[in-house]
Amino acid sequence: MSQTITAWSNSRADTYLLCPFRAKLKFKDKRPELPRELPTGKKEHANDRGSRIHDAAERMVTHSAPMVRELHHFETELVRAQDIYVGDSNSIETEKTWFFDADWLPIDGKEYDKIWLRVVIDLNVRLSPTEVLIIDHKSGKRYNNEVKHSEQMLLYVLSTFMKYPEVELVTAELWYLDLNELVSITMTRHQALQLFRKFNNLGVRITSDTTYIAKPSLHSCRFCPYRSGANKWVVGTGECKRNPADKTEQPDARWHTLRNEGLLKLKELQEKRRVEKSKSQNKQRR
Ligand code: SF4
Repeated sequence: MSQTITAWSNSRADTYLLCPFRAKLKFKDKRPELPRELPTGKKEHANDRGSRIHDAAERMVTHSAPMVRELHHFETELVRAQDIYVGDSNSIETEKTWFFDADWLPIDGKEYDKIWLRVVIDLNVRLSPTEVLIIDHKSGKRYNNEVKHSEQMLLYVLSTFMKYPEVELVTAELWYLDLNELVSITMTRHQALQLFRKFNNLGVRITSDTTYIAKPSLHSCRFCPYRSGANKWVVGTGECKRNPADKTEQPDARWHTLRNEGLLKLKELQEKRRVEKSKSQNKQRR
């Protein structure tokens, strides 16, 4: 087994930045995750819903399939993509995975041992010989994900320039399908190459780490599939504890609990004061 995570992607980077130890369990050790329970009132998991909507958007563009309800905010844009596909099927690609080696050279997905970076593009439109539009469908929420999603757009723009040396202008769009919101960024090759060092360093860090220091916190552990139940190789073994070599300051779970308790008390106090104030105002009016 390799000593490191050999390849990274945008979603792997998200997991790694949340908790390197969780990334190790998932991508290097390939530990199975527990079957997830359906959230109350839901008929499908968010991931399954996302895949279903992505499939529907792809079939709509490439096979003129009927539109599903979840895509109705972007009907005009998808019909336009459908028209482009019908006119010239080579100018549009849907749900394509691009593979790069450690020198950022595009490679075939079958060159498994060389794959260093994977980028999955939902919709890729060749607007002209030197201009590309790439689109990512978002079926989840935007709030609190703004930074993460912006980073994804930048990585995708950089990857597009790496994939196509002749391209000089790239526009990346995020389509928030449920929210009816569209976020867009356009960059020249010169602008995008300024991002190279940052993303290259991130990729090197993920694929060369051998310490995988765990970062337990309420935020990172909340939805971690390795935190409990049958995944007991983590809980109770001490594996999740922070590596003693890691000296960075980090509030622990207890700190979060105390803070949350404090906030609750503050809320109660404020509510009590509000009721008292309104009572005294009512009295004065009488
Ligand atoms: S339970 Fe927390 S610390 Fe442990 S792997 Fe998961 S996210 Fe990391």
